[in-house]
Amino acid sequence: MSAIDILFQNARLADGQIVEIAISGAKIVAVASTAQSYDSVGKIHDLGRRLVLPGLVEGHIHLDKCFVGDDWKPHRPCTAGFSVRERVRFEKEALASARPIAERAAALIDLCVAHGTTQMRSHVDVDAEVGLRHFESIVAARDAHREKVSVQIVAFPQSGILTSPGTADLLEEAVRAGADLVGGLDPAGHDGDAAGHLDVVFGIAERHGVGIDIHLHDGGMQGISEIEEIARRTKATGLGGKVTISHAYALGEVSSGAVQRTAQRLAEAGVAILTAAPGARAFPPVLLLRDAGVNVFSGNDNIRDSWWPYGDGDLLERAMLIGYRSGFNTDEQLAEAFEMVTANAARALGLAGYGLTVGGAADFLVLDARHVQEAVVARPKPRDVYKNGRLVARAGSIVAAAA
Ligand SMILES: [Zn+2]
Repeated sequence: MSAIDILFQNARLADGQIVEIAISGAKIVAVASTAQSYDSVGKIHDLGRRLVLPGLVEGHIHLDKCFVGDDWKPHRPCTAGFSVRERVRFEKEALASARPIAERAAALIDLCVAHGTTQMRSHVDVDAEVGLRHFESIVAARDAHREKVSVQIVAFPQSGILTSPGTADLLEEAVRAGADLVGGLDPAGHDGDAAGHLDVVFGIAERHGVGIDIHLHDGGMQGISEIEEIARRTKATGLGGKVTISHAYALGEVSSGAVQRTAQRLAEAGVAILTAAPGARAFPPVLLLRDAGVNVFSGNDNIRDSWWPYGDGDLLERAMLIGYRSGFNTDEQLAEAFEMVTANAARALGLAGYGLTVGGAADFLVLDARHVQEAVVARPKPRDVYKNGRLVARAGSIVAAAA
């Protein structure tokens, strides 16, 4: 067999098999349970039977908002119950005195990468006040850190679209400038006109061939009707497989009969659901949706920002929290929680060649666990993290300089 760059020996796969993994360039060229012969091998690493997992996929993060890499900023609660509008106002005030986005995003990227994240989808605020400034900063961060992590960008109307004049044009400008997806925010609850809001979002997606990822906190039957409308429009526009509804709290608030019907529509349309199972909120029933054929994936969402003070970017911890809050105890259920931060998220992000497979990108992490279930319940550290076959983090610290 041909020349390879690195041979990882004694790698434990999720199914317990001990294999060797051969890397050439940035790709996996062999995963074999018996020793293969190669014309030449650049380097050999003995992994000592540690567990090798595919790089973790962060399905929803806000790189422009976090205060990681900045002073601790105590949480400021809403004055009269939770209000997105008030939270956005508080956030703008807090961000005005924060360190530059480049520094905070870099600190958060490093935190996430050190835990094993090799791919991300980041929402980035776009509105009339900040214009494309956050977007441009995150594009720069994406490029500066691309040797450690691949970042997809969602142009996110955090202040609304119809109620924030000028935002529709800015979203389209962001997409023209390279945003991978167009976002949305509570079409009815925040903007007061679900049809008008979705006309803008789907219009931009159709005109530019990009995906959609809509934040939907709207609850109860109002939320359900918006979810069904998003599914209907996805089907009508042929955007199946490229549309995500993030949070979709309503799916956790209505009867299981109503969820069943909505799940059917989501599955038929090819709309994925993102849940972070946050705090004390009801959240979508993961297994019911999965059984109906809906792709359900996860991400950390807000990390130490104006919205809440929690999080350290560890997706194995996020998988644990989802399992914990869902009452997952069996091996099969724990494996499902793991899938939500790996294969399911990769599918939602449209990542080709994901996983520890021949031809796939050599993105993986190595840790002390016997199997996926133990990785989820114990979140072992330290971890070694590889991106495109290169060691990028060891024992919680970044080892490779940014590009
Ligand atoms: Zn979010």
